[in-house]
Amino acid sequence: MLAADRSAKSLPPEELARAVQTAITAQCDLDSRPGLRVRVRKVDVVEPIGKPQTLRARVTLHLSAEGNPFCCMEPGCLLGLHAGRLVRTADHVRRLIGRRGKLVLELPEGVDVEKDPDVRLEMDAVADEEPLDLD
Ligand SMILES: [Zn+2]
Repeated sequence: MLAADRSAKSLPPEELARAVQTAITAQCDLDSRPGLRVRVRKVDVVEPIGKPQTLRARVTLHLSAEGNPFCCMEPGCLLGLHAGRLVRTADHVRRLIGRRGKLVLELPEGVDVEKDPDVRLEMDAVADEEPLDLD
């Protein structure tokens, strides 16, 4: 007889958060994009009636200067973690934790963005151009 399916609730919270972080990093290809890292702060496991087990994750995107200049600070642009990519990320988590049943990933608060002080945007390059020295 098959063992009962593995619930995300059976994992220690840190392990679940790490699995979500690993899946986002892979699905958003962050290992090949310098200066972009995600940190999963918290994952709540909920089971809405009649719906698949759902992970509600709080995620921070951290920008550091290795990625300078960035086009913007919009997580939608930098990560694009929605629609099909969010579905693929949920499926990646499912495989990582060894669950057979469907898993849904939600980001109820979107993605927070934080940046190091030396992070620059493309538009800064224009704004910071040295004025002509007329002496
Ligand atoms: Zn952008």
